[in-house]
Amino acid sequence: MGLIGQNYESYKSRKSYKSYKSYRRGKNKMKVLITGGAGFIGSHLAEGHLERGDEVYIIDDLSTGSMENIGRIKGLSNFHYYLDSVTNHHLMAELVDLCDAVYHLAAAVGVRLIVESPVKTIETNIRGTEVVLHHAAKKRKRVLIASTSEVYGKRDQVPFGENDDLVMGATDKGRWSYACSKAIDEFLAIAYWKEKKVPTVIARLFNTVGPRQTGRYGMVIPNFVRQALRGEDITVYGDGSQSRCFAHVTDVVGALIRLIESQKAVGEVYNIGNDREVTILELAEKVKSLTGSDSRIVFTPYDQAYEEGFEDMLRRVPDLSKIHKLIAYQPTVDLDEILESVIDYQRSELAASHAAACASETPAIKAAISLR
Ligand code: UDP
Repeated sequence: MGLIGQNYESYKSRKSYKSYKSYRRGKNKMKVLITGGAGFIGSHLAEGHLERGDEVYIIDDLSTGSMENIGRIKGLSNFHYYLDSVTNHHLMAELVDLCDAVYHLAAAVGVRLIVESPVKTIETNIRGTEVVLHHAAKKRKRVLIASTSEVYGKRDQVPFGENDDLVMGATDKGRWSYACSKAIDEFLAIAYWKEKKVPTVIARLFNTVGPRQTGRYGMVIPNFVRQALRGEDITVYGDGSQSRCFAHVTDVVGALIRLIESQKAVGEVYNIGNDREVTILELAEKVKSLTGSDSRIVFTPYDQAYEEGFEDMLRRVPDLSKIHKLIAYQPTVDLDEILESVIDYQRSELAASHAAACASETPAIKAAISLR
C-alpha cells in the first residue's frame, strides 16, 4: 500500500488526480518544516513532499490534528514528527534551522472552535506566527503563512481579489477575532519581508475539503456526510441560501508546494481555492442523493447553531487570476468528486470503527449481533 491508504489511493487512480511528483522542480531534495503537520491539510502536504522524495519535519500539539492523520507516514525514515507547541522557542529554533523552508499551518481553525474558544484562537494564531517568523529571520528561511478567506470578512462583492479591502464585523462577535488574528499574521509576514528581508508568502485558503477533515469543528461537508451516512438530520444553518466554493485538498496542496518554490511569490498574497459556487441547501441535497440517505434536511437558526447574533457571510468566491498567472493554478477536482472522496473516506472509517467494536465484544454479544 502506498503512503495514503487504500480508499484514497483508489480515489487518486480513479480520478483525474495529478501526482504530487509532477510538482517537482529542480534536482535538490528539500527539507521542509510543517507546523500543524498532523492536521487535515498539513498531513496531506507532508505526504505531497514525501512523495517527491523530500525530507519532512512536522510539529503539532494535536489540539485539532491527530496521530491517525499521520498514521501511514509516521514510520518513514524521511519523516520526523514532534508533538509540541509552535510556541516552544527552543524546539522551533532547532527545527527552523534544520529546514530550507517552513509552512506555518498551525492555527485555531473551524468556526465552532473559534466561537467557543476566542482567547485560544487569538493567542494561538498570533503567538505562533511571531515565533515562526522570529526564528526564520535568523537565516532568512522561506516561510509560507497559511491564511484564510475569513480575512475578507463581511465583504459582499465577489469575487474577492487579494488587494480588496477587508470588511470586519464588530469586536463583540467572536467570529471576527479569527479573521483579525489571521490578518495580523499577514501584516506580520509582509513586515518581516519588507523590513528584515525574510522571504515570506501568504496563501489565503478558501474552503478546503477532502478525506480526514473532521466535522468536529463545524466544517459543513464532513458534517453533512456524517449526518447522511448515519441517517441523522442534515442540519442546514440559516435558510441555506448562503454559498461557498469548495476545493479539494490535493489541488490546494499542489498550489502550496508550487507557491513556496516560487521566487516571484515572495512578499505576495495569493488566494487558493475553487471558484465554482454552490448554495448550502444545494450542497445538502447533493450529499443526500450521493449517499442515497433517508436523512431529512432541517433548518437550524444561526443563533442556535453558533451563538446569539452570529454573522455569516452570504457568498465567498475567490478571484484566482493572480495565482493562475503565477503557477497556472486551476482546480482539477469538481464538487461531485470532492463529495465522493469524503463519502468514501467516511464510509471506510465507519466500517473500521464498526469492525473494531465487533472485535471487542464478548463471544456471547458477538453471537447475539450475528443473530440480528
Ligand atoms: N453550515 C451548515 N451546517 C453545518 C455546518 C455549517 O449549514 O452543519 C454552514 C455554515 O453556516 C456556513 C457554511 O455551511 O454558511 C460553511 O460553513 P463552514 O464552517 O464549513 O465554513 P465557513 O463558514 O468558514 O465558510
